[in-house]
Amino acid sequence: MGSPPTSPRASRSTQELNRLDLTYVWHPFTQMKEWEQEERLVIERGEGNFLWDTEGVRYLDGVSSLWANVHGHGRDEIKDAVRAQLDRLDHSTMLGLTHAPGIELARRLAAVAPSGLTRTFYSESGSTAVEIALKTAFQYWRNLGVSERSKHTFLCLREGYHGDTLGAVSVGGIQLFHDVYRPLLFRTYLAPSPHCYRCALDLKPESCDMACAGEVERILKSHHGDIAAMILEPRVQGAGGILTAPEGYLTRVRNLCREFDVLFIADEVATGFGRTGTLFACLHEDTAPDLMALGKGITGGTLPLAATLATERIFQGFYGDYAELKTFYHGHTYTGNPPACAAALASMDLFERDRVLEGLPAKIEDFRQGLHHLSHHPHVGDVRQAGLMMGIELVADKRSKTPFPLEQRMGHRISLECRRHGVIIRPLGDVLVLMPPLSIRPEEIQLMLFAVTASIEKHTGKRCE
Ligand SMILES: *Cc1c(COP(=O)(O)O)cnc(C)c1O
Repeated sequence: MGSPPTSPRASRSTQELNRLDLTYVWHPFTQMKEWEQEERLVIERGEGNFLWDTEGVRYLDGVSSLWANVHGHGRDEIKDAVRAQLDRLDHSTMLGLTHAPGIELARRLAAVAPSGLTRTFYSESGSTAVEIALKTAFQYWRNLGVSERSKHTFLCLREGYHGDTLGAVSVGGIQLFHDVYRPLLFRTYLAPSPHCYRCALDLKPESCDMACAGEVERILKSHHGDIAAMILEPRVQGAGGILTAPEGYLTRVRNLCREFDVLFIADEVATGFGRTGTLFACLHEDTAPDLMALGKGITGGTLPLAATLATERIFQGFYGDYAELKTFYHGHTYTGNPPACAAALASMDLFERDRVLEGLPAKIEDFRQGLHHLSHHPHVGDVRQAGLMMGIELVADKRSKTPFPLEQRMGHRISLECRRHGVIIRPLGDVLVLMPPLSIRPEEIQLMLFAVTASIEKHTGKRCE
């Protein structure tokens, strides 16, 4: 492997970079006091499924750089496309102008998206893609002339996560992240998380007849007049702890929304672009939403870009003479940034050229077997998998499902331990999250499974049986 070009700033020592980081940077989702005390990695380089730190140590990117990377780092095909685009046009607005990469990407997305999603509205992050879906759904009903007293709020799920801006937080359901902002948020209807290991309704999957979907039905029956749209993460509630929904849940709630004339928003920011084994999670159950939010993997995890896809029905709700004031008054400065669109197009080419989706079943099966073995560990309460989105829930007591005390930071400590084995993962509380790039190879899967198993064994003091 040739040595990469170094910029002048890259020649600062690790120690110096750490000192400057601690002086000037505030990290996301991070208790900075803890950050000061722990061992920090300064990442310098990425190639394939690995990252290198400034000390030259190599780590497998087991979280796809926060659920974004798809084809591995440093892919020439994406870099060349971005470079070529930068040489032609760096940025130009989509407010009142247009450009080829934005047009081409919208065309390509419409071709592969669940049926009916023909219109793409661009933004830069998953959160903004969700805001756009929410605002569009809300305004759709206003444009149709529905009074502000009806179709004014949303139905969402407990344990749901849709981003960190206030609208997205309003439809979120994770107490730890969201509760402090409650006074700033709009009120919603919340249905239970479709999550069998810790069923909110205290039922058993064998006999419950999917009562969690029954709750959705109950809410829709009584309140559909209030509800503009339902929003959920199809099949997997990611940040809630990789909570996998039972087979058929998606279809059932989608049909309920149709029955009660409530729009259906699929947040595929995490699940999109192959993560669950199909290009979009909705495609597992052949579900066609009215609106779909995309982000994270859309550029192969290289540049910030997001998209909200809408059906022609939604689009037509905004279409009319200017003076009708049906326009969607929303847009960001970097909406449809051309190099980011070029990266997304190159990533979509790679899906075809590398036959990425065809290669997934074997990888998913390798993980399934390894996780099955781990599920027998006395402190592994539950293992959950949807394609290459995987969660291992650690518990202090397996029978009662009692969690470890918060202060023990068990998930965090085990994740740091994995680094000693050359694997980077990031937990959600005591759920260890494994979410490698789709390009992960068989021997790298084994490295990941080994690192996780060894780290769990070390910190729980118990071996896998
Ligand atoms: C990460 C995520 C978001 C937010 O995306 P950002 O790019 O971090 O704003 C929204 N929805 C889901 C399901 C996500 O996993």
